[in-house]
Amino acid sequence: QKFVYDFTEGNRDLKDLLGGKGANLAEMTNLGLPVPPGFTITTEACKVYLGSGEEPAALRDEVSAHLDALETRMAKKLGQSDDPLLVSVRSGAKFSMPGMMDTVLNIGLSDASVVGLATQSGDERFAWDSYRRLIQMFGKTVLGVDGDLFEEALEAAKEAKGVTVDVDLDAADLKKLVKQFKKIVTRDAGRDFPQDPREQMDLAIKAVFDSWNTDRAKLYRRQERIPGDLGTAVNVCSMVFGNLGPDSGTGVAFTRDPASGHQGVYGDYLQNAQGEDVVAGIRNTVALAELESIDKTSYDQLIAIMETLETHYRDLCDIEFTIERGRLWMLQTRVGKRTAGAAFRIATQLVDQGLIDEAEALQRVNGAQLAQLMFPRFDDTGARGGEGPQLLGRGIAASPGAAVGKAVFDSYTAIKWSRSGEKVILIRRETNPDDLDGMIAAEGILTSRGGKTSHAAVVARGMGKTCVCGAEEIEVDTKRRRLTAGTTVVEEGDLVSVDGSTGKVYLGEVPVVPSPVVEYFEGRMHAGADDADELVAAVHRIMAYADRVRRLRVRANADNAEDALRARRFGAQGIGLCRTEHMFLGERREMVEKLILADTDQERETALDALLPLQKADFIELFEAMDGLPVTVRLLDPPLHEFLPDITELSVRVALAESRKDANENDLRLLQAVHKLHEQNPMLGLRGVRLGLVIPGLFAMQVRAIAEAAAERKNAKSDPRAEIMIPLVGTVQELEIVREEADRVIAEVQAASGTNLKLKIGTMIELPRAALTAGQIAEAAEFFSFGTNDLTQTVWGFSRDDVEASFFTAYLEKGIFGVSPFETIDKDGVGSLVRSAVEAGRATRPDLKLGICGEHGGDPESVHFFHEVGLDYVSCSPFRIPVARLEAGRAAA
Ligand code: PEP
Ligand code: MG
Repeated sequence: QKFVYDFTEGNRDLKDLLGGKGANLAEMTNLGLPVPPGFTITTEACKVYLGSGEEPAALRDEVSAHLDALETRMAKKLGQSDDPLLVSVRSGAKFSMPGMMDTVLNIGLSDASVVGLATQSGDERFAWDSYRRLIQMFGKTVLGVDGDLFEEALEAAKEAKGVTVDVDLDAADLKKLVKQFKKIVTRDAGRDFPQDPREQMDLAIKAVFDSWNTDRAKLYRRQERIPGDLGTAVNVCSMVFGNLGPDSGTGVAFTRDPASGHQGVYGDYLQNAQGEDVVAGIRNTVALAELESIDKTSYDQLIAIMETLETHYRDLCDIEFTIERGRLWMLQTRVGKRTAGAAFRIATQLVDQGLIDEAEALQRVNGAQLAQLMFPRFDDTGARGGEGPQLLGRGIAASPGAAVGKAVFDSYTAIKWSRSGEKVILIRRETNPDDLDGMIAAEGILTSRGGKTSHAAVVARGMGKTCVCGAEEIEVDTKRRRLTAGTTVVEEGDLVSVDGSTGKVYLGEVPVVPSPVVEYFEGRMHAGADDADELVAAVHRIMAYADRVRRLRVRANADNAEDALRARRFGAQGIGLCRTEHMFLGERREMVEKLILADTDQERETALDALLPLQKADFIELFEAMDGLPVTVRLLDPPLHEFLPDITELSVRVALAESRKDANENDLRLLQAVHKLHEQNPMLGLRGVRLGLVIPGLFAMQVRAIAEAAAERKNAKSDPRAEIMIPLVGTVQELEIVREEADRVIAEVQAASGTNLKLKIGTMIELPRAALTAGQIAEAAEFFSFGTNDLTQTVWGFSRDDVEASFFTAYLEKGIFGVSPFETIDKDGVGSLVRSAVEAGRATRPDLKLGICGEHGGDPESVHFFHEVGLDYVSCSPFRIPVARLEAGRAAA
């Protein structure tokens, strides 16, 4: 097994082994681009180390061999005292984890070689500053020294000299600082800063391996659903310097705008600086276009390289580069993160450029991005004048969305307040990886410094969280927990609104308007010329690709005409679940109460007779809205106590009334019924098909309402396509009994109305026993609809109503699952039951219709699974329909 690859040996397909950064450095090297020479230690080596606590035995020799080769090539030795080779040691996992893991620059500097570097560079200040940075980074990330100690010493040095920026410290100051830094290391780490360059390198490599398992890296992986066992590669790269004077610098570039997708020159440049200065957002940068006037040769070369990369990767690339005394070096490239809107635009732009085809375009976007585009936006037309929200300033629109919340100035408060249900906006001068928890807790993030590639911007975009960064008019004072913008002071707790699409920041609450993408789905917006319409046009095209290739049909969970009509506009191909209990709420609850309290057949029949016309009217509306498309109506499912008053409240009311000696007859009967129906585990109690079996006439009334509604529509020359669905069946016998009665009622209605209704009768599969005996159940069912909410509840034994609040956080933190099984289908457990039930059901009845109507029907990852197991359709809430259509297309493409 080979643990080390020279940059010339790898390529971009080796991301598993070399990590994203290593694979792409190799790819660029092979493209002939100017990459500083170096090598990559594989993720396999990291895995061995993390598993056993020791590096693989062969690693040391392999690293030595590659270092020798590098030294020969560069004609100098690592840390050589008269002319040192210096290297960076950087982490690089398969999936990018911005700022999550460690990097150490300038390895090879020591008390001896710093002098050599000063001579060679002709810049003593630069050499000592580089050494200072090495001790600081190495101390913090490798030796675990508290980083603040270095920062404080640096601040003190500046204060003593009466200057505010690092560059005003001269070589003598920096020499003193190096001495101090070394003392800090010795004191805080209990060992001296290592003078042996190879020891520096080996320790840094180990530290990078270890950084895979820091708390913040683990948290980030859970958030992003990155598997925890991949490990990181380590890139050892010869150093080039952007801080050697005004003809040097460093920057980042995008081959097109990651916010809009437009082609052009996008990026930031910082003259006379090292790469970390840009990414950390510590100093403010200039626009990349200005590089043209600073160094035209390098600029032209960079633009040419950007074109090469975009054509080669056939996608937006982001790039980190450094110019060392007029010479351009590529330090990193990768297919760049982008906003949701840009993803859609870029995908269609690349199709138009002939770089990708439609199937590939579908893989370049996803349902989560589409869902994000369906969020409302700010209506800021009222925010100009004196009244209403006040514009505080404008920063960089780093990650879109409209966030309103209370201003907080540190992560701790963000987490605390959000836990107590407050919406907060996290406001910082700049963020760093320690702010991750706070960023997750916040509605939106606002920083006063840093560009599009600052930590805040990159991480927020990754999380799909609203972010404005670099709002320079805003002065953030974290110590006093407030910000000032001009003469306005915003204190902790004041409401602020942050617009991640325009970069505007307001004091007060800005009203929101619907997203143009929703307007488009609603049929209220069509392709045109302004900015929003360009996005709409891209979404329109991508949805058309998806609809063309998808095999899964998409239905809606809807139980009223309004939802049904919206679902239809959003592209629903029918209703997969109409929960009839929703038709029994409001004023009708009392009628259900009468049904439950009925003592005699007579009373019961009266109650049912009263409900029948109402139910029928509901169904007529629904069939009308979905004319020509299937409508699956589920018979009553929930435990009856849901229709009765709360047991405690009622008991108190009755007790109080009794003490006043004026208890009313009805309340007493009600209380009795409530007691009788009270169950310890109502979700496992009298509900679903069981209600139909023990309450005479209930299901018959519902079936009659469906059949009569269908007959009426049919006789009006319409095309109702009702399907009757029996919930919570565990055995075929239950279904057979209910079916017999339903068939009889349907026959009566058909005879009376002179129609042939062709009503289908099927069942939900939402109990393990139903799934396990699906072959038998299919004998009595014309369709199955998997109720994955209840199926997940019963397969795991998790109460769907309680777990999220009780122990799921602990489960997520411990990594037992990366995402709730109520959100994304548990493929191995619940999913495997679905798979076998599909096979068994179809074996019994080859034309069995198969769908799913649990929450998973609108979840991107789950949709792919349902495609794969061969369902006919998914059913989800109306707003998720576009997402399901898109993901069904992506699954099939
Ligand atoms: C289900 O259990 O997945 C389902 C769709 O039914 P309900 O959520 O109404 O129980
Ligand atoms: Mg259910």
